[in-house]
Amino acid sequence: MKIAIAGAGAMGSRIGLMLHQAGNEVVLIDRWPEHIQAIREKGLIGEFEDQTITAKLPIYSPEEIVEGHTNVDLVIALTKSMQLEAMFKDINAIIGKDTFVFCLLNGLGHEETLSKFVAKQNIIFGTTTWTAGLAGPGHAKLVGTGSIEMENLAPEGKDFTLKVIDIFKQAGLNPIYSDNVRYSIWKKACINGTLNGLCTILDCNIAEFGSMSMARTLIETIIGEFAVVAKAEGIELDQAQAIEAVEATYDVKTQGLHYPSMYQDLIRNHRKTEIDYINGAVWQKGQKYQIQTPYCAFLTQLVHGKEELLNAK
Ligand code: NAD
Repeated sequence: MKIAIAGAGAMGSRIGLMLHQAGNEVVLIDRWPEHIQAIREKGLIGEFEDQTITAKLPIYSPEEIVEGHTNVDLVIALTKSMQLEAMFKDINAIIGKDTFVFCLLNGLGHEETLSKFVAKQNIIFGTTTWTAGLAGPGHAKLVGTGSIEMENLAPEGKDFTLKVIDIFKQAGLNPIYSDNVRYSIWKKACINGTLNGLCTILDCNIAEFGSMSMARTLIETIIGEFAVVAKAEGIELDQAQAIEAVEATYDVKTQGLHYPSMYQDLIRNHRKTEIDYINGAVWQKGQKYQIQTPYCAFLTQLVHGKEELLNAK
């Protein structure tokens, strides 16, 4: 299968490398000039726990990819949320009537964005527990293991999605066909919508956050706001299950010592965050349904304030 990775940062590098190792034709699309240059010069380095590999993968900017790459079977979207629309505008020419797009971004609202560029029956949505980081341009750090859930938005696309599942299985990506991917996306958004923003603003890791006496109240209130808005969108979130999923991350033997990706992006690297697609999306959707979401609104504003103070790019 010919696969393009639209947004070949940390996660795109992981998925791209694993699919390439399993024998698929993988093309990377990215906008970061230093990353493109490093991969062209030295290949993409994947530092796994047990081995380091270097893969000579082709990489193009979105403007370059439209030349001669119109036969891509699957585009895997892995930009940051705020980069998704511009990426798909620029690569629109490689999306034919038979091209499928698999969205693996965190956050909410991507269905609306992708539906502008791709027929609904060709869109697959998913969530993943895999993680990835970048040590620098062209160099991905790939520890741990994970799995991927996926489901196509319209039933007509299921046969192709099952083929994607086979390919992902061969690559060791542990995929499963989900029977309710929208629910999984909202549940993951609850984890990101509590830990990401709060650890970033409170300047703490996950275990430190969990040790605070107000931790339970904060996550209960935020998840409560997510649940009311999810309900207006037809999704019945199990709040107790979502709270349990957040609290399960506090353990220092698992993820407790970890600083969420938003913390790393903003506090360490002064990069803009995905807050508008997590708490900000709940706030915005809440306004549409006339539902008050003051904690999500406040957290979104605080994170944007911090972005301004740090001159995040
Ligand atoms: P990323 O920041 O590594 O990459 C996203 C884009 O930003 C890429 O185009 C990349 O080249 C560019 N970029 C990265 N570092 C840069 C820098 N220093 N300067 C300029 N550009 C830079 O993002 P990611 O972690 O791969 O996340 C992609 C999506 O996957 C997001 O929606 C994220 O929430 C989700 N996700 C990530 C992980 C993870 O562990 N990284 C896990 C699950 C889901």
